[in-house]
Amino acid sequence: MAKRAAIFTLGCKTNQYESEAMAGIFRRHGYETVPFDEKADVYIINTCTVTHLGDRKSRQMVRRAVRKNPDAIIAVVGCYAQTSPGEVLEIPGVDLVIGTRDRDRIVDLVKEAEKAPAPVNAVQDIMSHRSFEELPILDYENRTRAFVKIQEGCGNFCSYCIIPYARGPQRSRDPAAVLAEVKKLIQEGYGEIVLTGIHIGAYGKGLDQKTDLADLIVRIALTPGLKRLRLGSIEPLDITPRLITAVAEIRTVCRHLHIPLQSGDDSVLRNMNRKYNTFEFSRMVGAIRAHVPETAITTDVIVGFPGETEENFQNTHDFVKDMGFSKTHVFKYSPRKGTPAAGFAGQVPGDAKDSRSKRLIALDRENQKNFAAGFLGHTMEVLAEQVVNREKELWEGLTDNYLRVLFRSSENLKGQFVEVRTVRMQGTSLLAKVRI
Ligand code: SF4
Repeated sequence: MAKRAAIFTLGCKTNQYESEAMAGIFRRHGYETVPFDEKADVYIINTCTVTHLGDRKSRQMVRRAVRKNPDAIIAVVGCYAQTSPGEVLEIPGVDLVIGTRDRDRIVDLVKEAEKAPAPVNAVQDIMSHRSFEELPILDYENRTRAFVKIQEGCGNFCSYCIIPYARGPQRSRDPAAVLAEVKKLIQEGYGEIVLTGIHIGAYGKGLDQKTDLADLIVRIALTPGLKRLRLGSIEPLDITPRLITAVAEIRTVCRHLHIPLQSGDDSVLRNMNRKYNTFEFSRMVGAIRAHVPETAITTDVIVGFPGETEENFQNTHDFVKDMGFSKTHVFKYSPRKGTPAAGFAGQVPGDAKDSRSKRLIALDRENQKNFAAGFLGHTMEVLAEQVVNREKELWEGLTDNYLRVLFRSSENLKGQFVEVRTVRMQGTSLLAKVRI
């Protein structure tokens, strides 16, 4: 009987991509991949350390796997494992710790751990790695949207962020490997390709050839059969005129840019080491909107950064309102050991963070509704994702500019593009009718 492997993924889209790639490696070695709540011979926990909640949830999932099958090999992988291997090894039942390198050798490392008399620590010094680790996805389980990892690492060192220490320096994937993976995914029928990485705007760094993200997009867009190309998160300073032109002129590139703001107050941005101010950010948003009408701009904001006063927060609130983001992901600041901000004076009490987070989430709901309402009565193309209400045969899907649309259909439309006409709002989503 085939051995069974189960993977649990925490954190970002890059982690999701890497878990999908590891699942493929297990399958190619004859393992059956099963859901995490089933009994398995190997459990992989692909961890996150971006906040202390990521650490805690990672540890919880490790303990859950040990309880599920105390005889299984428990392998802990990813960012939390990379930055805190000692803490991970202290959790009873852990057999193997791998960081953000060597995931392509996961099956060999699991076999080593099976024979080893003590837990194996395979974490490497990530700061010394300069090459991109190829971890291609050769088979996917989900058939609607595929992620393609193009970049690894970050050199920005924002004062609150642990990621540069977890992922190491900036490295870029060879464009030929990116193009080959995109081509394969299109042939397999994927409607949407999402470019992902830790800092994709830095694409080109670490390669011998002179290239950047705009070049890569132009080359990908030439792939026959490509229907939609979505870009993952891009840092504000990486939004160049060439990139805006690529989004504006290439029909298959989604009119959606996720640009992390982090704070709408200039003094907080400085303390965060973010290297831009609100004036520059709003000018950049203006340039995007002037060239790419109807584009969705989504963002991330951290509330309760050390030293953030009520007035600083109000500036952020007002700036988020002014920018009219179509979605704002709100994070409460969480001190990360080893980062400068963890030692800053003026740590904000939890109740103030809770209240600021709630206020910003309420504003985000209004922003989302306002953006979506601007598309009422429009005919739009939606990529059907899943049924959200079986009884009512209600489907949901996304437009290229990241609007969530609900529509009725008795057919199985998963992964198909459907033309709809929006008729009314339902919460922050649009309700639509399928056009025949
Ligand atoms: S840009 Fe800043 S927040 Fe983003 S990964 Fe790099 S250091 Fe972290």
